[in-house]
Amino acid sequence: MQGRSKSYEKLIGTFQAARDLVVGSGFPQLGGITFQVGCPAVEQYHRESPRGYMHVLHVPNVICVAAAAEDLGRQTLLGLWLHEFGHVLGGPEQWDADEWVFRNIKLEGHPVPIRYDERDLQFVEL
Ligand SMILES: [Zn+2]
Ligand SMILES: [Zn+2]
Repeated sequence: MQGRSKSYEKLIGTFQAARDLVVGSGFPQLGGITFQVGCPAVEQYHRESPRGYMHVLHVPNVICVAAAAEDLGRQTLLGLWLHEFGHVLGGPEQWDADEWVFRNIKLEGHPVPIRYDERDLQFVEL
């Protein structure tokens, strides 16, 4: 990676895809959620817990993401974003967030299950 600034193209693209999927599944009230890079609390969280990249509801209607998440794969980012959307209406527990996604998010009528890879990171097969 050259230079000091990052463009976060992958974060932007996958976030928009995840939010479109949530809204399209019948949750327009979540369409106003945005994300921010640079929250000191989420950067500290990621340093202390390397598999932690995001948190939600620290700032209303904002998902905070660690800058290092730009280097993750597309399916992983989609899984992470959907998991965070799941926290908004599903509750604070990890299982509740994933369960909310499984019950409510549909792509062409089919559920989108959140899976976990060998690093214990969420991903979806999209
Ligand atoms: Zn934050
Ligand atoms: Zn979570």
